[in-house]
Amino acid sequence: MELNPLFNLDAIPARPEPTGLLYGEDVLSVAQFDRDKIDYIFTRANEMREMVKRVGKFDLIPDKVAACIFYEPSTRTSSSFIAAMQRLGGSVIPITSGVSFSSVSKGETLGDTMRVLEQYADVVVLRHPEVGAAKEAASAASVPVINAGDGPGEHPTQALLDLFTIQDELGQIDGLKIAMLGDLRYGRTVHSLTKLLLQYDVQLRYVSPEVLRLPMNLMNRVIDSGRNVRETYSLADVIRDVDVLYVTRVQKERFSDLSQYEQVKNFYEITPEVMEEAKEKMIVMHPLPRVGEIPESLDSDPRAAYFRQAQNGMYVRMALLAGVLGRA
Ligand code: ASP
Repeated sequence: MELNPLFNLDAIPARPEPTGLLYGEDVLSVAQFDRDKIDYIFTRANEMREMVKRVGKFDLIPDKVAACIFYEPSTRTSSSFIAAMQRLGGSVIPITSGVSFSSVSKGETLGDTMRVLEQYADVVVLRHPEVGAAKEAASAASVPVINAGDGPGEHPTQALLDLFTIQDELGQIDGLKIAMLGDLRYGRTVHSLTKLLLQYDVQLRYVSPEVLRLPMNLMNRVIDSGRNVRETYSLADVIRDVDVLYVTRVQKERFSDLSQYEQVKNFYEITPEVMEEAKEKMIVMHPLPRVGEIPESLDSDPRAAYFRQAQNGMYVRMALLAGVLGRA
């Protein structure tokens, strides 16, 4: 076949050989990351931050396309992945504004959607309301699938960026006392972060109303790990001596009984007055969006780390995308 001479393929440099610890991997659960891999991702994420600070954008993966398909609403996670691709010089097929208009609503299986998307894209970023959907998608797709949240299941990239933030802000993870507060039952970020933290020597505090306690199976894992752990509904029990206060919103969309949601939705508020009790060197985190748990009046407190945490998300996702695409 004669090629159009304008293509002049011989003049285009060959693509580099893929390399790195994460090449070709799906990112489905925090269970796949041991401390070596976590350190590797953190080193890459720090490089990404340095690169963005110096030059804003770098063509590390200009030949790569990500399909970002979100079956649940998302603003932060989807834009963070899109920004990550763009800052690496890659491109995105953003399928984010609800998928009801697409063939999903025509009854296409998740597997078939993946088989089609992999014809266009080198990596698929998926958010889905059902636990296990990312795993199912990954078994159908030959390109890497990144789980951007599967219902109340897991949110591994969020947990990695949360851990990165703790390390970055406090200079260590081992030895810290970490409290998670709010919707511990449905909050997938809490589930993923808890599992990741079990690889570290930390003390854990879980603060929630009775109906939003951490699922029993996860609490049993924490107890079996031998970590020092306590559950309480009272913020006053923990506020004085925690190094990290990880706040979550109550996940309205997961309640089948909305009157139950109404009873617990305003259970905690981390006001500046509450923070007067907290240590001087500690941080308040939140995966965002916040819906009343943290007033804007706290934002100027240097301990309020949630927006820095969101920025870290982009660096960690850059590291993961470049990693699974073999350019880390
Ligand atoms: N953005 C986080 C998530 O997708 C937290 C939340 O929605 O409350 O799980």
